[in-house]
Formats: sequence, C-alpha cells, structure tokens
Amino acid sequence: MAREDNCIFCKIIDKKLPASFVTEDDDMVVIRDINPQAPTHLLVMPRSHVRNLGECEDAELLGRLFQTAARVARDQKLSSFRTVVNTGPQSGQSVFHLHIHVLGGRSLRWPPG
Ligand code: AMP
Repeated sequence: MAREDNCIFCKIIDKKLPASFVTEDDDMVVIRDINPQAPTHLLVMPRSHVRNLGECEDAELLGRLFQTAARVARDQKLSSFRTVVNTGPQSGQSVFHLHIHVLGGRSLRWPPG
C-alpha cells in the first residue's frame, strides 16, 4: 500500500491520528470533515496514497472511489448531494491525498466560489 510520511490522511487511515470514521473497507476510508461546510460533509479516500485526481491512472480505483461516495450518500439518507474533487492548490486542494468531498443536507448554490 503506497504511503506518504507527511500525509495527514495516510496517518488517519493508519489510525496514527484520530478522526471521525464513517466506514472503511479494504480499499476505501470515509471520515467526517473536521470543518464541515454542510450538515453532512464526508471525505471518501483510497487507503493507497495518490496525490490527486490529476495523478491517478487507476480507473478501477476511481470507480470504487465514486461507488463508495454514492453508497455512503445513500447510507446517510442524502437524496441530493454534491461531490467535489479539488485538484491542485488553485482549486482549493489543501490535503494532497486524493479524496472526494460528499456534501449534503442543505441547498447548495451554483456556481461554487
Ligand atoms: P481539500 O481542501 O479539498 O484538500 O480538502 C481537505 C479537507 O480535509 C478540508 O475540507 C479539511 O477541512 C479536511 N481536513 C483537514 N484535516 C482533517 C482532519 N484531521 N480530519 C478530518 N478532515 C480534515
């Protein structure tokens, strides 16, 4: 499993840092965002370290990532939700371990800022 020493999400996945876990399986981990932007704000991430979407060549992993996002949204009873994948500093990416934000529980405006 790819790991990055200075990655906060790798540390959370390895249980070296605390987080609010929603679910996890062999490949994917879902936690609650520490600074939620909606009543439900989850982060879905692969266990394996990949910096971001721009550097991910693994179509199967991306498929499982989005499947997991849809499944947790269903489990959380979100009839509408938004998925966001920030890629690169200018997009707002602040943690360089691929993750999908799943936001729901309120009306969301478009376009985003
Ligand atoms: P991004 O800015 O797209 O890279 O998203 C990173 C997200 O991780 C932000 O929404 C942060 O609030 C969230 N975050 C940072 N540290 C933690 C942590 N220790 N536990 C849970 N969420 C975190």
